[in-house]
Amino acid sequence: MKTSVFLTVFSSVFLMASNAVAEQYPKPEQRMVPLALECRSPGVIALTFDDGPSANYPQIIDTFEYHNAKATFFMVGSKLEKQHHIDEAMLAVNAGHQIENHSWDHPDFTTISNAQITSQVDKTNEILWTTLGVVPRFVRPPYGRIDVPKAMPIWDMDYGIALWNIDSEDYRKTSLLWGPGKVLDKINGILNTSSPSEDSFIILLHDASDTSIEKLGDILTTIKEHGYSIVTLDECVDNKGL
Ligand SMILES: [Zn+2]
Repeated sequence: MKTSVFLTVFSSVFLMASNAVAEQYPKPEQRMVPLALECRSPGVIALTFDDGPSANYPQIIDTFEYHNAKATFFMVGSKLEKQHHIDEAMLAVNAGHQIENHSWDHPDFTTISNAQITSQVDKTNEILWTTLGVVPRFVRPPYGRIDVPKAMPIWDMDYGIALWNIDSEDYRKTSLLWGPGKVLDKINGILNTSSPSEDSFIILLHDASDTSIEKLGDILTTIKEHGYSIVTLDECVDNKGL
């Protein structure tokens, strides 16, 4: 009797362990791109939204649908512990937008240990998989703060680091000198001095920023008027000659 109880307990522990292994998230299938700062080919622009999910997702998704384009959303893992954020995120997943990893709770990676960075990336990968069925490929370090020693644990896990080459500055508070028009003006100003035959861009935006959201349709329109195609980050780093 004692033996069979022991065996039952042992086998259920073993089964739990097997389940834990079986529930680990899958690894990305695409080739690893160590650092994304611009796209592989000229003429394309990836718009990336950090810090979500948020209540602005439906409006962003509608705007991209109207322009027949896709965005890339860098999500904060801990937000996916709340059902309303999972619902917002699923809107983006179902509409075919790209979903990526923006850490668990948004620490400055240059101020935490490598083990903590690994945990930030790992926990976010896990919740992206368990709540959304998404396998991310890139990590965007909060505030864009990263250096080679702090990138090593991320590269060791086979994830790339995604930064940007246009900062919309949409995190600035609206004031007499700064507002939605200025975010659009800044992007316009950079595009005016660029050439789609030579340049490509990854633009940093924030979905919770009303300054970006108010002018998002105009931002997408001006990108097209300047002769650029709007792409996901995957298309940005992989595709030639879009
Ligand atoms: Zn952020």
